[in-house]
Amino acid sequence: MSVAAQFSDLYGYEPAGVWAAPGRVNLIGEYTDFNEGFVMPLALPHTAVAAVARRTDGVLRLHSADIDAPVAELRVDELTPLSKYGQGGWAAYPAGVVWALRDAGHTITGADLHLASTVPTGAGLSSSAALEVVTAYALNELFELGLSGPELAVLAQRAENVFVGVPCGVMDQMASACATEGHALHLDCRDLSIRQVPFDLSAQGLQLLVVDTRVKHELGDGAYAERRAGCEEGARVLGVSHLRDVAYAELADALGKLEESGVDEKVVRYVRHVVSDDHRVEQVIDLLDTGRSSDVRAIGPILTEGHTSLRDDLRISCPELDLVVATANASGALGARMTGGGFGGSAVVLVESADADAVTKSVLSAFQEAGYTAPRVFPAVPSPGAHRVA
Ligand code: ADP
Ligand code: MG
Repeated sequence: MSVAAQFSDLYGYEPAGVWAAPGRVNLIGEYTDFNEGFVMPLALPHTAVAAVARRTDGVLRLHSADIDAPVAELRVDELTPLSKYGQGGWAAYPAGVVWALRDAGHTITGADLHLASTVPTGAGLSSSAALEVVTAYALNELFELGLSGPELAVLAQRAENVFVGVPCGVMDQMASACATEGHALHLDCRDLSIRQVPFDLSAQGLQLLVVDTRVKHELGDGAYAERRAGCEEGARVLGVSHLRDVAYAELADALGKLEESGVDEKVVRYVRHVVSDDHRVEQVIDLLDTGRSSDVRAIGPILTEGHTSLRDDLRISCPELDLVVATANASGALGARMTGGGFGGSAVVLVESADADAVTKSVLSAFQEAGYTAPRVFPAVPSPGAHRVA
């Protein structure tokens, strides 16, 4: 049954429209966003699809086909961060978007929403951003707010940061809102300027495989805040507002200065990762911009360098992610890296289309031999960002 038909079954009338917003995977640029650097995500073909209708009585009803819970019924004027719907519970994501829009001065008089999503949850593929962005797009049209994709993305991020209480950067929402088919999205996290970089994998005879390890190690819980604080300390010692301001050509000098200053050695590693990963984003863009088949393939080793940096300098990888990268590269992949926050979640693997099956098989059997849960492997086809479907 379509999401629109499910809406009609549930609420007893037809929705005003149906919208879709994708999950994302980050090609390169990790832990660079809060350093005001560069990231380069692409939208997945997996989407959250929402059927929505406007209400005028201040009531907000929310339902997900994927969650075994009754319709959540709230009042828009009672939404407050860290209330019942600001602390966990899936409804906090769409409710948070309504709150963020209202908090920014927009008039939202209520809505009925029903959604279903094909974005795997908790795999580092931003099922949460898909949920927020699809809600924001629907309400933007239904209430004729006239907000742009980037504006909606920033409001969706605010919903997640302040209402749900998750300290994420803006990459996920920007990717879900602004990505386009056949491209990766170059996002400058300083001024939120974006550029569509050609990344038409199938035309190049390539595939980017996502390998969802299906693990999430608890170690990850405090690691983000700790890395973030370390980066801030590094910037302070170097006398810059953010690590974005350390040029790659000056990296060796900067690391020497940090060592002399007596900061913890981990701060030196974090700075080395962030500044070199920003540089890797620029290298990848330069190669993709030429569109030459040999250049597009040459991003493979840069992805693998990125993984080494995340493993050894930032230290956010885990045995499962390292096994994906090592096995993929040993069985013919062009390059591979973990992607997202680390300590589990997913890796990306760049392969010749002709080698995709062989590489997938190698990874699956390596996991079996190691006694790990079988990973989920699928191709990341660079797909459109949020849009109306009906
Ligand atoms: P990620 O964004 O990496 O997938 P998060 O922990 O940020 O992981 O977000 C996952 C949460 O988003 C889920 O626990 C759930 O609350 C919400 N969510 C995602 N997809 C759906 C869905 N289809 N229906 C209801 N809630 C969802
Ligand atoms: Mg998320």
